[in-house]
Amino acid sequence: MRVLITGITGFAGSHLAEFLIAKHPEVQVFGIVRWRSRMENILGIRDKIELYEADLKDMVSLEACLRHVKPDRIFHLAAQSFVPTSWKCPAETFAINATGQIHLFEALLSLKQSPLIQVAGSSEEYGRVFPDEVPMKETNPLRPLSPYAVSKVAQDLLGYQYFQSYGLPIVRTRGFNHTGPRRGEVFVTSTLAKQIAEIEKGVKEPVIQVGNLDAERDFNDVRDIVEAYWLSLEKGEPGEVYNIGSGVSRPIREVLDTLLSLSRVKVRVEVDPRRLRPSDVPILLADSSKFIARTGWKPRLPFRQTLSDLLDYWRGHV
Ligand code: NDP
Repeated sequence: MRVLITGITGFAGSHLAEFLIAKHPEVQVFGIVRWRSRMENILGIRDKIELYEADLKDMVSLEACLRHVKPDRIFHLAAQSFVPTSWKCPAETFAINATGQIHLFEALLSLKQSPLIQVAGSSEEYGRVFPDEVPMKETNPLRPLSPYAVSKVAQDLLGYQYFQSYGLPIVRTRGFNHTGPRRGEVFVTSTLAKQIAEIEKGVKEPVIQVGNLDAERDFNDVRDIVEAYWLSLEKGEPGEVYNIGSGVSRPIREVLDTLLSLSRVKVRVEVDPRRLRPSDVPILLADSSKFIARTGWKPRLPFRQTLSDLLDYWRGHV
């Protein structure tokens, strides 16, 4: 089976590639990279995957890639994935995420290819959620609160529309926050873990800068999430959308407390106003019962283990 991962150099994409190599020897893994992609995340598997240069903003490059790879399945993970950057670069975010996905779909149509496709949507699509709406089901209204979230809603609805209009077999997932080793350093769990690792090493004064510690998120281990992505195409129904999350929400404060409990450092915590967002989502909590009933997915890794692995990762990288 030929599997193409867009975003293979990223956090989730690299874990998905590792998962496929370890658990599904029947799969041949292909990925797209850009000429200046950071290769660090896939160094360990470089000889087990085939990479092809393409950019979501360039349909010609996608067509050439697809003509060559002829994938049976595509995991479409590539994106401008950072919410704060989407405030600074909303048009670029939309160009990569929404228009880029149109390029991918149109390239498939022009080549008359119809692989199974997973579109990686996000819990951020739900945006503003009222207290009586949690845990969130797929039927919750989408009230996105950032340009990133709007771009993910667009990806999600385009997935629906290309399924309805052209029969492309697309499964949409709405993944809740995931973290673990290799999580980009700008994301909250990594920002905190990295600062603790730096303090442990003595290269940073014992002060941790934080944003909004009250925001609650449904944190998942990336290794559980990529298994869910695989199951979404194994057992999910094309045309459908599925929430993927643990069903437990924790304030970011708990992430900080857990990380500190895994370390011996004593720190002062300071709020950095630059880390606060123009409009933040107060709580994201998944109801994944639709996905679980369909696929039997169960998150396996405990929260503390995930954070311990993340901290170890940063200990090796500061
Ligand atoms: P990362 O930011 O770690 O990875 C993004 C990937 O997209 C990189 O491989 C990057 O390649 C690639 N990419 C960016 N722009 C382009 C482009 N123009 N053309 C081709 N490739 C491009 O993200 P994650 O791994 O964390 O997320 C994967 C997906 O899951 C994203 O769609 C994200 O929105 C979604 N998601 C993530 C969640 C999370 O908590 N992590 C939660 C819910 C959804 P390059 O190396 O070239 O920059």
